[in-house]
Amino acid sequence: MNALPQSRDADRAGTRRAIRPLADTLISQIAAGEVVERPASVVKELVENAIDAGATRIEVKLDGGGARRIVVSDDGIGIAADEIPLAFMRHATSKIATLAELERVETLGFRGEALASIASVARVTLTTRTRDAAHATRIDVADGTATPAAGGVGTSIEVGDLYHSTPARRKFLKSEQTELGHCIETFRRAALARPDIAFTLSHNGRVVEHLNVASPLDRTLQLLGDEFSRSHRALEANAGGLAITGFIGLPDASRASASAQYFFVNGRYVRDKLLVHAVRSAYRDVLHGDRHPAYVLSLAIDPAQVDVNVHPSKIEVRFRESRGVHQFVFYGVGDTLARSREPAAVAAVAHAPVAAAWGSAPQQHAIPQPSSAYGRLFAEAPRPLTVDDGARPTWSQPPQQSAAPSLDDSGLATFGLGHALAQLHGIYVLAQNARGLVLVDMHAAHERILYERLKNSLDAGPVPVQSLLIPVTFRADPREVGLVDEHAAVLAQLGFDIATLSTDTLVVRALPAMLATNDDAADVEALARNLLSDLEAFGGSRVLTEHRDELLSTMACHRAVRANRRLTIDEMNALLRQMEATERSDQCNHGRPTWTQWSIADLDRLFMRGR
Ligand code: ADP
Ligand code: MG
Repeated sequence: MNALPQSRDADRAGTRRAIRPLADTLISQIAAGEVVERPASVVKELVENAIDAGATRIEVKLDGGGARRIVVSDDGIGIAADEIPLAFMRHATSKIATLAELERVETLGFRGEALASIASVARVTLTTRTRDAAHATRIDVADGTATPAAGGVGTSIEVGDLYHSTPARRKFLKSEQTELGHCIETFRRAALARPDIAFTLSHNGRVVEHLNVASPLDRTLQLLGDEFSRSHRALEANAGGLAITGFIGLPDASRASASAQYFFVNGRYVRDKLLVHAVRSAYRDVLHGDRHPAYVLSLAIDPAQVDVNVHPSKIEVRFRESRGVHQFVFYGVGDTLARSREPAAVAAVAHAPVAAAWGSAPQQHAIPQPSSAYGRLFAEAPRPLTVDDGARPTWSQPPQQSAAPSLDDSGLATFGLGHALAQLHGIYVLAQNARGLVLVDMHAAHERILYERLKNSLDAGPVPVQSLLIPVTFRADPREVGLVDEHAAVLAQLGFDIATLSTDTLVVRALPAMLATNDDAADVEALARNLLSDLEAFGGSRVLTEHRDELLSTMACHRAVRANRRLTIDEMNALLRQMEATERSDQCNHGRPTWTQWSIADLDRLFMRGR
């Protein structure tokens, strides 16, 4: 009963209301919340229906970013006049009839709820004609009137005034430009999945995209732009009932954001973590962590091996043999990339142990970095963490006062990780402690420190924010501009002030204070872009509760000191002290160790030096 608003009559709160079934329209309106999030979801559902109907031509017309009007017309099989009412009935479908069919479903639709949901929140008219019908039939769904109409075989659905009946939802619609951006993206996904279908998209009467039937390569190049055209490779691989085909961009066609990554499973666009990870891992050796590969890949798999009924919009899938799929994709992409590289690298990819491939995590690559502003990186004094659950900070096995030989007396016993000696190949910090030699992976260690601090800071309340002396502006695509608009509240909570300057320019004005140690413009831009692509990938209003750790880990990984940065001894010592003060600092966010100890005894053994 505490679900009732507080402001209601006090006695009302105790009154029991009879249980009643919800009205049908209300059920559809509730379902529409999941299926019809925005105009782009309507475009997706209608285009999928057209594809399922065997269309060879699909035309999408939008007005007002799709909120005012969406018309999708196809030359598919049409709907028989007497079945039209069924098409708008919830859970009515021509695509499956049994559980067995569900488990092997090959059509894009099967839940039978799209048209019902759309019709419950918008004004819908449908014109359709089957091959045997003498004429087309037009129906206004609101009043159910059907009239004979002109028109060829196929279906045209017009959706007007989205959310006119649910004004609360209408308020959630963003600017026309933002909604259009989402519609265009939806359209492109469909067009990439089906080069054998001709597609046209227009907005406010102007043609935005016109695509003739084409080969997969030509369709891909048409939609992915010049850089990709110049620098890509075709991929084709088959194994164990899996087949992958498509095109992958070489490193010089990589992008600052994940905006050109298309993965299709049995013709369905999916955004699946496992697949994204497999591709990303395959690129690891050739792409710097800030860059995102461009690719269009289609995986064909026995429909019984994949569950597409995981999510109402079916954008997530679940594989039965996820490990096998991951490896197949990883090797397919990796081998294709390797073909363009020198022999040594080819060998490395071809023989990479399977387990390592699976367990490996995204990683930063060595690039030289300007050293400006770097001194501040570790300048902050180590600050013990406030441990809320009563647990001791798990700085494990501090090799404290173990009766070790006193090699020098500069306080070795006081610091578990000892004193920095040098940096090795820009990757490792070497330190001497009471037991012997400590080797630290400086990026991994710093990443962990930042991550733990970010977590604590977010838990403790508003993240302290630091304004940038010089705000960083950068050009962004409509998608990114839309994401800033959409996730403004989440970005603010994470300590970012990112705003739109114009339709294609974003500005970063402030960062979380603990990340503001480096204000190099390119770094700030890359951080902002990566965060936005995370927000896009995870999406939804609960992103900060459900994906908090991933977001923080992206932020930490980004700001952590990169390989090839030369550190002074003081900076190395500062890093060691911070590690000692940080919970779980002996593993990085990806589970790799951040440091290791070689005792004098270990070293003696290496040299067969009896003591
Ligand atoms: P689903 O696609 O899950 O079956 P929908 O609500 O999207 O559910 O559509 C309901 C039914 O209407 C479909 O099963 C199909 O028979 C019919 N239908 C919808 N759109 C079209 C179309 N463009 N051409 C032919 N039939 C269609
Ligand atoms: Mg459908």
